[in-house]
Amino acid sequence: MREETRLIHGDARPHADFPTLTAPVHRASTIVFPTVQSFLDRHQQFYDGYSYALYGHPASRELEARIADLEEGVRAVAVPSGLSAITLVNLAFLESGDHVLVPDTVYSPARNVCGGLLSGLGIETTYYDPNETGCVADLIRPETRLIWVESPGSMTMEIQDLPAIAAAARARGVTVAVDNTWASPLFHKPLTLGADLSVQAVSKHIGGHADLILGVVTAADETIFRKLKDTSRNLGLGVSPDDCWLALRGLGTLSARLARQSESALQIATWLSEHPAVERVLYPALASDPGYALWRRDFTGASGVFSVLLRPASADAVAAAIEGLRFFRIGASWGGLHSLVAPSDPRGIRTVQPWTADGQLVRLSIGLEHPDDLIADLERGLATITEANIAEVS
Ligand SMILES: *Cc1c(COP(=O)(O)O)cnc(C)c1O
Repeated sequence: MREETRLIHGDARPHADFPTLTAPVHRASTIVFPTVQSFLDRHQQFYDGYSYALYGHPASRELEARIADLEEGVRAVAVPSGLSAITLVNLAFLESGDHVLVPDTVYSPARNVCGGLLSGLGIETTYYDPNETGCVADLIRPETRLIWVESPGSMTMEIQDLPAIAAAARARGVTVAVDNTWASPLFHKPLTLGADLSVQAVSKHIGGHADLILGVVTAADETIFRKLKDTSRNLGLGVSPDDCWLALRGLGTLSARLARQSESALQIATWLSEHPAVERVLYPALASDPGYALWRRDFTGASGVFSVLLRPASADAVAAAIEGLRFFRIGASWGGLHSLVAPSDPRGIRTVQPWTADGQLVRLSIGLEHPDDLIADLERGLATITEANIAEVS
């Protein structure tokens, strides 16, 4: 064997005897087969074994199995992002002429999917009021194939009555998909409450360190799983083993991180709800929140993400206060170690229930900093708004 050949075909060191606590990462495209026949039959291994790394590798299968287990589903499909998980569900369960029901408070890029991609394919979307469970049954048409639930709603945090929606859907043979990113599979189990599919933006709590983009869809049964997997094959969706490895590492600390973030968030939300610059705190874990009773019934915890509606103040004063925060950095996404603040204006992304509040809405994602430091940071920021308001009035 010449050196050039040895570089490629050198004896592989055995790796089975490297017992570690962490999952292996196999970087691969090709899977090799021992015989001509096994190669020709490789597609039989599409769902369960390995045929080509685009369709699964040890790290993706490990992550899918762990998340499916937490979601109490049968199997899961890992995809490149939370948004691609949403699009995968839409494309797997909807075709031209079909109709889909979506909550008015849906993650806004998902609204763009409905108005753009789905509309172009001849799939019609109707938005419904997340607070009016009864309206969902009335909006189901013969061509309705899919109902989305996202609880709590993006930015405005409405808790939906999933069991009631799932019962109405079941009666009419309609599939129910839930975006379960906010609660994570630890605090909410949509598949046990009647949903058929549960979506996780793994980029958020499961990844947990703001260092990866990944999504997973969990199916309640094997038929749904195969439908997802077939569509994901047609779309050519694959995931990196390194990203899956990071997500697996995130899973190990998920419960400790969420417990701490949840505890801090409740403390901070309670403090904010009594602050004179704050109109209202939108957080279902607060007893004063309209979603509290449903949240208590259907969730076992609240993550550290909630919104704050400020009393009306000048846009400049609000921007200066947000920019002056030291620990809350301005940015999208959430669920990481760092606290984040995201100003939002729901007016342009609500079509059923217009958003009419005058004050600025901001979403906070509570990280793992000490809650007292976070409160002191917010106190300084809110004081600048109060001072600006006083200056304006006098
Ligand atoms: C962030 C988010 C998504 C999208 O996840 P990406 O991985 O960023 O594409 C979907 N749903 C919800 C509720 C989210 O917060």
